[in-house]
Amino acid sequence: MRYCDLHTHSTASDGTTPPAELPALARRAGLSAVALTDHDTTAGLVQCAHACEEQGVQFVPGIEVSADPGPAPPPPETAEDDVAHDAEQRRGTLHILGLFIRHDDSQIAQVEQRMRDARDSRNPAIVDKLNELGVDISYDDVLDLARRQGAAIIGRPHIAQVMLDRGHVATLREAFERYIGQNGIAYVRRDRLPARDAISAIHHAGGLAIMAHPIQTGLSDPGQLEQLVVQLKDLGLNGIETRHSDHSPHLAEQYELIASQLNMLTSGGSDFHGDRKDVMLGGQRVPLEVYERLHNAWQKRDT
Ligand code: AMP
Ligand code: ZN
Ligand code: FE
Ligand code: FE
Repeated sequence: MRYCDLHTHSTASDGTTPPAELPALARRAGLSAVALTDHDTTAGLVQCAHACEEQGVQFVPGIEVSADPGPAPPPPETAEDDVAHDAEQRRGTLHILGLFIRHDDSQIAQVEQRMRDARDSRNPAIVDKLNELGVDISYDDVLDLARRQGAAIIGRPHIAQVMLDRGHVATLREAFERYIGQNGIAYVRRDRLPARDAISAIHHAGGLAIMAHPIQTGLSDPGQLEQLVVQLKDLGLNGIETRHSDHSPHLAEQYELIASQLNMLTSGGSDFHGDRKDVMLGGQRVPLEVYERLHNAWQKRDT
């Protein structure tokens, strides 16, 4: 059996493996194809492509864009007027993967710039909050760490790493759970890109747009998730990531069913982040046919 992994991160975003070293790891993990899908940046794609060629691994140039999922729907079992429904309340996380993108596309470059701006205003705000809470780290330390790793974007994992290095937390997990995760006391929201813009930039770059890890939308009701997928399909979404390290086999099957009912593509990957996340490259054992189906659809695409 041959395998692929279509969701990975490098040091260009918040992984710990340099993009040029990912392909050798992929080959050793027995993978025939790998996608690099760094958060909001294409900075690692050229290096990774070269190294993939050397290693004889098929390469899928990609990106993972954080998008705005829009207002949250009311809870499924409650009639809408029973709920004090907060229109500002948002669904969980919506990440959209672009697969087979051109790394130097002008609209993707605009997306990257918008996301850099959003991070540049959010990251210092997180550090300010931490300082107010007595966690004494400086934003310069975060910038230094990111620079040393060659990161093109700065994310919360870099902040968490500095907190750990300075002894403010015992683990990266504690940094997120207590402080900077969505329920943490130093959490700051980040401006996200409207899903429409994320999908159209991915298409402009010649890629396929895939909803990453649907579980992270927080929509546990399959009907509600399907509703969101339908809305996004109307905006051009091409497929759903069904296999992912956060998905149980049962959930993956549920997502496969939604994709097949809506006649959409499926993808799968580990969401490898090197040492920063407890998942193995290739750990999802995604059959190479998943890559082949995506590749065929991409070649025939009319986006
Ligand atoms: P950011 O892009 O700055 O919002 O950071 C998001 C990244 O932080 C994700 O891609 C994960 O790599 C990491 N992350 C988010 N939540 C957690 C968590 N609870 N524990 C560990 N890492 C997390
Ligand atoms: Zn990440
Ligand atoms: Fe993600
Ligand atoms: Fe990811």
